Amino acid sequence: MKKYVYLFSEGNANMRDLLGGKGANLAEMTNLGLPVPPGFTVTTEACTRYYQDGQVIAPEIEEQIYEAMAKVEKIVGKKFGDMNNPFLVSVRSGARVSMPGMMDTILNLGLNDVAVEGLAKQTNNERFAYDSYRRFIQMFSDVVMGIDKNKFEKILDEMKEKKGVKHDVDLTADDLKEVVKRFKELYKQEMGYEFPQDPKVQLLEAVKAVFRSWNNPRAIVYRRMNDIPSDWGTAVNVQAMVFGNMGNDSGTGVAFTRNPATGEKKIYGEFLMNAQGEDVVAGIRTPEPLDKLRETMPEIYNQFVEIAEKLEKHYRDMQDMEFTIERGKLYMLQTRSGKRTAAAALKIAVDMVAEGLITKEEAILRIDPKQLDALLHPTFDPEALKKAKPIAKGLPASPGAATGQVYFTAEEAVEAAKQGKKVILVRAETSPEDIEGMYAAQGILTARGGMTSHAAVVARGIGTCCVAGCEQIRINEEGKYFTVGDRVFKEGDYISLDGNTGYVYGEALPTQEPSLTGDFATLMEWADQVRTLKVRANADTPRDAAQALKLGAEGIGLCRTEHMFFDEDRIPAMREMIVARTEEERRKALAKLLPMQKGDFKALYEIMEGKPVTIRLLDPPLHEFLPHDDEDIRSLAEQMGITFEELKATVVKLQEFNPMLGHRGCRLAVTYPEIAEMQTRAIIEAAIEVMQEKGNTILPEIMIPLVGEAKEFKYVKDVVVRTAEQVMKEKGVKIEYKVGTMIEVPRAALTADEIAKEAEFFSFGTNDLTQMTFGFSRDDAGKFLEEYYNKNIFESDPFAKLDQVGVGKLMKMAVELGRAARPDIKMGICGEHGGDPSSVEFCHRIGLDYVSCSPYRVPIARLAAAQAKLKEKK
Ligand code: ADP
Ligand code: MG
Ligand code: MG
Repeated sequence: MKKYVYLFSEGNANMRDLLGGKGANLAEMTNLGLPVPPGFTVTTEACTRYYQDGQVIAPEIEEQIYEAMAKVEKIVGKKFGDMNNPFLVSVRSGARVSMPGMMDTILNLGLNDVAVEGLAKQTNNERFAYDSYRRFIQMFSDVVMGIDKNKFEKILDEMKEKKGVKHDVDLTADDLKEVVKRFKELYKQEMGYEFPQDPKVQLLEAVKAVFRSWNNPRAIVYRRMNDIPSDWGTAVNVQAMVFGNMGNDSGTGVAFTRNPATGEKKIYGEFLMNAQGEDVVAGIRTPEPLDKLRETMPEIYNQFVEIAEKLEKHYRDMQDMEFTIERGKLYMLQTRSGKRTAAAALKIAVDMVAEGLITKEEAILRIDPKQLDALLHPTFDPEALKKAKPIAKGLPASPGAATGQVYFTAEEAVEAAKQGKKVILVRAETSPEDIEGMYAAQGILTARGGMTSHAAVVARGIGTCCVAGCEQIRINEEGKYFTVGDRVFKEGDYISLDGNTGYVYGEALPTQEPSLTGDFATLMEWADQVRTLKVRANADTPRDAAQALKLGAEGIGLCRTEHMFFDEDRIPAMREMIVARTEEERRKALAKLLPMQKGDFKALYEIMEGKPVTIRLLDPPLHEFLPHDDEDIRSLAEQMGITFEELKATVVKLQEFNPMLGHRGCRLAVTYPEIAEMQTRAIIEAAIEVMQEKGNTILPEIMIPLVGEAKEFKYVKDVVVRTAEQVMKEKGVKIEYKVGTMIEVPRAALTADEIAKEAEFFSFGTNDLTQMTFGFSRDDAGKFLEEYYNKNIFESDPFAKLDQVGVGKLMKMAVELGRAARPDIKMGICGEHGGDPSSVEFCHRIGLDYVSCSPYRVPIARLAAAQAKLKEKK
């Protein structure tokens, strides 16, 4: 029979896929001889089986659970369901990778109306017993039965108010008895039946709830954001309870072996005395720094530090640990690789190489390329920052600089972000329901909670700036405003957050561009030594190109020429060209554009100093350049000296039902070869002039878009070559240049061998290729893709993460066909995917020469390319 349940003593850290991260590490710690309360893990396979069986737990799994329970009972010398000396357990979820706050834990399971009395007698602590029971009822009701936990909080708050106390710990045993009574009444009212008294029923229901939570909407969103497949499932850990709420010699806390915000090598943590479980992270009371424990319980502190060091050496990585002290005895409840900010990740990786703990290659593999994004965002302009006066200060929970408009709920934040606004989410404290709002926000500000609060942990994980526990602000969620002192900030008002200092500013502060220095630069150097895939940038302007170079780009993989025509002083000439009635008129307008275009290219070449520059000929449908409402058409007609009717007719004529599949790309050059001629002339003349002026060798790569047929490519290529030769003859100079194509129409991929006979390079335009392979428009798909995620049809956005199965198959085919026809053909990718780590890895595997992405993603692509190379070796 298949084994679905493992005692902690039967597992180890390598069994993460089966036992989940938490279970595997509990097993590992157990085997290291650390003080871990005993327990067992129900495997991820049991979760998968639960879903296969139609959301029921198979009898054989149930049996294995009871067998394991019996063994643990032996170890602790108590019996589950014993009314005099009850054995209590926690039921904890744990998937292969940690998903913070996604799935909830139930503590003190096994208590009921009789056992609570037994527990009180046994421990001689009635207050403790009823505190444990009320927590259990609350967690069970919330996590297992889905009863709104606020209803319980309300009862507790009423009780505290009635008794005139501020904190839970100030309630007496009798108060808590009353709370328990009211909790059970609430349960009955909500469910229609009594709170379950049979511990076995409690246990099975809890296990099922953990399995169910794998598919709750928060978990699904998190998985999508983090590329976690839905079929992994979660494991369930059942563990003997230890109690941090037994009095003032007890407590609970969390700690990191190094500072998760900065990476500093110093143990870092928080704890609360006389508290249980999530009290530390829930922001109920403000926790104390770990250093305080050194003063109050030096032995425990020393023991803990020793364990922490042992764990870090053992795992050779920074650890995030949870511990509980029960009556002066330390227990370890969890360890895992700690989440850290990008800056901390870099520092820790570089430091650990210096300490001899890991190799450079391991350091490269340790950094999540996506996380670097956080360091590639602007920071506050130091001058402006110096002048600005903060309105409040909270904890610097997740670094970065954020400026945006204030919103008070996750939904409104998401809505505002959709409208293109920059959003600061302001909450008393965040909870897992807020996750989408947190993703949508530039920054997060909370009034409560510490450095390990939900807001802080999640923000660091997703690289969003966060200031937590800012107690000076008073939030009125219903009124949609917050106050600080006598200032009022309403929904939509601007504020700025500095995640490095914790300061909050009551205004929008200007920001500045990021740069690569320190540990970041060191790690990038290591990555460059390893990778074979080149990294270029998509850049249309000298400014973008300069930024790309600073971030390590080795060339320009895509310069979109149309962006150059939208400028106010240029668009008139462009429009003239479009509405021209004859070739002659068109050539006249193009002649006006030529010097501007040439100037743009010269500026780009000068900045790139001889590095390759791929320039794409005009691509979008022409009507994009024309005005659309009558008033604008009238004023343009006037400017151009033609009648309104005539211009209107042109606009109407250019309209298409399906412009993305319409008259665009190389089709423009087929109908108006003079456009391609002008652009080629600008490209070649600029190259010759820069060579003569600066002495750099310029190798222009002229890229023809939207090709689907070899003859079509050949036609445009002939125009380009003819013009280039003409220009060189005029100038009396010969230079090298290449003519190639985008592969973005499926037919181009299918006939890549034919096309490669003519094309000297391929660049995969995976935005259009994805759009055309799936047959849905990038601009509209967002409207229905949401349902595809919810229904598990798609796990991720194919426009963000390359569809390797379908679109990737076309790419692979095109690479093979292209190489067979022209062995030295150069190949790259210039779609959005060029900066997505898993897509970069795919590009490496199919043998592309380079990826090209937006300037800010260049470092991400450099690291992903190095990782791809290292993974290939394995
Ligand atoms: P999460 O994955 O959200 O961190 P955990 O399973 O780690 O959830 O549980 C949350 C908290 O509950 C732990 O940090 C710990 O304080 C408490 N807890 C879990 N199991 C036990 C136990 N057996 N005894 C005491 N406290 C526990
Ligand atoms: Mg939790
Ligand atoms: Mg935990």
